[in-house]
Amino acid sequence: MVNAFDPDHSDRLDDRTRRQVRRRADVLGPGYQLFYQHPVEIVRGRGAHLFDAEGRDYLDAYNNVPCVGHCHPHVVEAVQRQVAQLNTNTRYLQDSLVSYAERLLATFPRQLSKVTFACTGSEANDLALRVARYATGNQGVIVTSCAYHGLTAEVAAFSPSLGPGSPLGAHVQTIAAPDPRLAKEGDVAAFMREQVEAAIWHLQRRGLGVAALYADSIFSSDGVFADPAGFLRPVVDAVHAAGGLYVADEVQPGFTRLGDSWWGFQRHGIVPDIVTLGKPMGNGIPISAAVFRPEITEEFGRNVRYFNTFGGSTVPIAAASAVMDVIESEGLQARARETGRALRQGLESTLSGSRHLAAIRGTGLFIGVELQDDAGTPDSARATLLVNDLRERGVLISASGPGANVLKIRPPLAFDHADATRFLETFAKSAATALA
Ligand code: PMP
Repeated sequence: MVNAFDPDHSDRLDDRTRRQVRRRADVLGPGYQLFYQHPVEIVRGRGAHLFDAEGRDYLDAYNNVPCVGHCHPHVVEAVQRQVAQLNTNTRYLQDSLVSYAERLLATFPRQLSKVTFACTGSEANDLALRVARYATGNQGVIVTSCAYHGLTAEVAAFSPSLGPGSPLGAHVQTIAAPDPRLAKEGDVAAFMREQVEAAIWHLQRRGLGVAALYADSIFSSDGVFADPAGFLRPVVDAVHAAGGLYVADEVQPGFTRLGDSWWGFQRHGIVPDIVTLGKPMGNGIPISAAVFRPEITEEFGRNVRYFNTFGGSTVPIAAASAVMDVIESEGLQARARETGRALRQGLESTLSGSRHLAAIRGTGLFIGVELQDDAGTPDSARATLLVNDLRERGVLISASGPGANVLKIRPPLAFDHADATRFLETFAKSAATALA
C-alpha cells in the first residue's frame, strides 16, 4: 500500500481533503489506510472507471473486486430484484442457491464437487484449515514468505505479509516465493520442491506434521509470480506424500483473471484438495466459498456444525450468479487474456532499456512490474513516486511485494482496449517522470 503521509504536512492537499483525512482519523480505528499521498474521493463508478464529485474520470487499473465492472447494470438489477423479494439464510430450500452451486462447481475439475459458502476470503481460508486439520490429523501449515491469506487470528498466523507485528504461529513454516532468480539454473519447480521438503521435515521433526500447503495461485503479495506454468506440481506431490493437503487460494487470481482458465491452479496442471474463493465472486457483495474434494470434507461435515449466517444468503447468491452471467456473456476470460497481453507488450516497450526495470511478470489481467535502483536492489521509493504520479494523471494502481517495489496492475476484467490504450499512454508519461 502506497500511502503514509501526514495531512498536516502535505502541501498537496486542499483544505477540504485535509479536513476529511482528519475526520477519518478522529473516528476510525488506527488500521485504516488511504491509497495515494493525495487521496482520491470518489462518488460513482462504471466499468473500469471511477468518478469524483466534479466528474473527473479515473481509470481503475487496480480493483479486482468489481470484476465485471463497477456497478455493472446486470448485477445491479439482479441484486435490486432479489433484495426486494427475499434475503435469507441457507436453511430453507432455495433453488437459486443450489443452481449457483452447480454452476460454480461445473467450472472446476470434477474431483472438486462440494462447496461451502461464507462471506470473506479469510473465512474461507479459516474453514479450509479446520477441514485440513480434521482430515489429516496434522497441525502444520506451509506458506510463501510474503503470503497473505486473511485476517482471522488463525489465518493471520500464516499470513507473513502482515509483518513482525503479527507473529507467525509456531506451527507455520515459510518457503521463498517462486522467484526464478533464486532458483539454481532457473529451475523453479526443483527450487520450490527442495524448499517444501525442508519445511515438511521441520514440521514433522516438531511432531506437528503437515496439515496444508496454502498457495495463492498468482503469489500476489509475494510480488506476482506466474511462470513457468507447472512449477507447483512437484511441490504438491511432496505435500501429498507427507499426508498434507494443498489449498489453492484463488481469492485474487480466480474467476478468469489469468486469462487462460477460470482458476489459477489450472495453469499448473494440478487438482487441489481445497480451493478458496472470495473478492470478485459477488462484484462487491460479500460472498466467498471453499470448494472441496468430497472425501476430505465428509467427516468434518458430519461431525462439526458449520453454519455461516450470511454465507450464501439469497442476495449474495443473486449477485454471484449475475457475475457468472456477465463473465460468460461478455467473454471476459478472452478479454483478460488479450487485454493483458497488450498491456504487457506495451509496458515492455515503454520500459525496455530502463535501468530501473527488474522484471515484468504475470499473466492475463494480473501484472507485476518490479523496479530496482541503480544498485539493482528493490526500489520502493520509485514505485511510490510512479504510483502517485499516475494517480495525479488519473490512473489508479498500487504496489506490492516484500520490498513494496512491484507495481501491481490488476484492473477489473471489464478493462477494455480503449482503457488499455489510455493506461499505456499515461504510464509512458509517468515513467518518463518517475524513472528518469
Ligand atoms: N487470500 C488472498 C490471496 C487475499 O488477497 C485476501 C485479501 N486480500 C484474502 C485471502 C482475504 O480475503 P478477505 O479480505 O475477503 O477476508
